Amino acid sequence: MRIVLLGPPGAGKGTQALLITKKYAIPHISTGEILREQVALQSPLGLKVKATLDAGELVTDDLIMAIIKDRLERPDCAKGFLLDGIPRTINQSEMLDVILARAATPLTHVVQITVPQQVIMDRIKSRGVASQGGRSDDSAEVAAHRYQVYLTQTAPLAAFYRDQDCLREVDGVGTVDEVFERVCRVLEGA
Ligand code: AMP
Repeated sequence: MRIVLLGPPGAGKGTQALLITKKYAIPHISTGEILREQVALQSPLGLKVKATLDAGELVTDDLIMAIIKDRLERPDCAKGFLLDGIPRTINQSEMLDVILARAATPLTHVVQITVPQQVIMDRIKSRGVASQGGRSDDSAEVAAHRYQVYLTQTAPLAAFYRDQDCLREVDGVGTVDEVFERVCRVLEGA
């Protein structure tokens, strides 16, 4: 299984990614996690991207594609993989297609976890109201910004994969177990 998992921030994508990769024994590749690790290590890459991450903006396509190309070449990806947080732009989708086509390992599943806009907005808002002090309010603000970035840059990927006839949508409203069951049904082709 070579899976791309799509969905807005706050849709529970990370949680589903963990469940899927455990069940199907494939590596979970989260570009956000890779970048946060580098920030924590204060590596040259980490120092370079920290401000971008803090602002909820996207790092450049070239930078992220260099990272993912390296990661996909590691031997554990021979048994498949799940991509979480990448691609984030149409340009990244196209570059990913090229990388995978060269390796003769095209995607097998593109799954989008769908959550209505209002539900995401409410989650972001309640986070802001529930928390106290400037810092947490800031992060509600950043969360709202990240959602806007998602809508403009990443949401168009659904149409990109739909045109290739490989998009499967899963209702992301429900308990973790309910959503996971829906995801597994799609992955197992039911
Ligand atoms: P995530 O954990 O996937 O929400 O990613 C956290 C942050 O890492 C994002 O807000 C971006 O700043 C950066 N990031 C992760 N993946 C990508 C990507 N594919 N393209 C650009 N920036 C990314």
